[in-house]
Amino acid sequence: MSRYATVDPTTGMVVAEFDTMSDAEAERSVENAHAAFQTWRRTDVAERAAIVQRIADGHREHADELAALMTLEMGKPVAQARGEVALAASIYEYYATKGPELLADEKLDIAGAGTAVVRTDPIGALLGIMPWNYPYYQVARFVAPNLLLGNTILLKHASNCPQQALRIADIIAAAGSPDGVYHNVFASNDQVARMIAHPLVQGVSLTGSERAGKAVGSVAGANLKKSVLELGGSDAFIVLADADLDIAARDAAAGRFANAGQACTSSKRLVVEDAVWDDFLEAFLAYAEQWTIGNPTDEATRLGPMSSLAARADLVAQVEDAVAKGATVHLGGVVPEGPGAFYPATVLSGVDATMRAYHEELFGPVAVVHRASSADDAVRIANDSPYGLGGAVFSSDEARAAHVADRLDVGMVGINTTIKSAPDLPFGGVKNSGIGRELGRFGLDEFANKKLVRTM
Ligand code: NAP
Repeated sequence: MSRYATVDPTTGMVVAEFDTMSDAEAERSVENAHAAFQTWRRTDVAERAAIVQRIADGHREHADELAALMTLEMGKPVAQARGEVALAASIYEYYATKGPELLADEKLDIAGAGTAVVRTDPIGALLGIMPWNYPYYQVARFVAPNLLLGNTILLKHASNCPQQALRIADIIAAAGSPDGVYHNVFASNDQVARMIAHPLVQGVSLTGSERAGKAVGSVAGANLKKSVLELGGSDAFIVLADADLDIAARDAAAGRFANAGQACTSSKRLVVEDAVWDDFLEAFLAYAEQWTIGNPTDEATRLGPMSSLAARADLVAQVEDAVAKGATVHLGGVVPEGPGAFYPATVLSGVDATMRAYHEELFGPVAVVHRASSADDAVRIANDSPYGLGGAVFSSDEARAAHVADRLDVGMVGINTTIKSAPDLPFGGVKNSGIGRELGRFGLDEFANKKLVRTM
């Protein structure tokens, strides 16, 4: 099988294959992206914004087709897939409408004579490396601000979503983006490394696993290239004793099982104060049971297959390790009969530090419920992770929840809500969850030259 292929996760069957580009094509796309930058950076920002708006329109116009391709290539239930396409469109629209004012020069209040202004200038051709779990949304987070800013883009999408990668490139071309401004690249890892090292490429943004982040970040570092790394997470969802348990249980189930649990900010670890352990667990299991497996093309399905048989095998190994070492399975935990990468909504407790499921990211529909003796103990458990992406605290006492939220070592935290991405809210983490921020005004600054102009 070719490296870039559509493999239906409901059957495991190969549907379409695509060739990896040649080294000569990889070199040409870098040169084209650099050449296009010379014109694109000087194009009026209003014109760039109009193109970014038409990319938003293109996503909306083709929403059903884009959603169906997502369902085919990575198994997202179609109703959730349409929601993602709408979110991606709203990100392009946000940068098209708000971006120009966010790029305005900033006049500094300085001591002494003269003026000082900071410009936000583009830096050149960039490489984006994107994952399959939110195939349109992840691309939008990187592409929308950078096209608006005036950078040009080489985009290497995950090898299991080639058809979506090609449709994104079509929509961007149909929106009027000039030749060379956006390239889809079906590149090998070696070609990716050479692109990062290439003198005509100025930076790289990767969303993906910690493993890929280390590989790409080290090539970027060795070549003194700017990198943004949006990596894994193992978000804690803290339930304090005074929380509304029904709402907390409902949101924890949605936060854990949406997208078959394959989100960086899924509520992977539920940390529950001892006093409400039994009541919360009962309510949570009742909601979790509603996440039944179904065909992802069916409008009513909430839990589709995982993205691939290999991804499921990794998850099964993590669950088996925990169970062998004494974890309790409250729900699921058994691979269903039949074809496809299906895995049921699963709930574990009694997971301790000897088990892989304690420290590792569980990238599938498995919730781990931890018992905390107090709010302080909940903070300790939540922070006892190599990751620091998002988190949530549920409590009817907002001040108490805020005090807990303040002590979480994460990039994003919700009080009585899980983290839901929005175009105007920054997104990113600390610790092994990565480096940098996307979205909002922050997403425009990562690959910008904040250029000082001093006048006397
Ligand atoms: P992955 O295996 O790391 O792949 C992500 C991308 O990196 C793919 O395009 C992949 O290409 C590429 N890649 C992997 N190794 C590479 C290497 N050595 N050199 C160059 N490129 C490489 O991750 P995934 O399984 O697709 O995505 C799931 C992970 O992404 C989870 O850990 C999740 O938490 C994380 N994630 C983080 C965020 C965030 O914002 N923090 C958002 C979404 C997902 P191939 O497909 O060709 O291997």
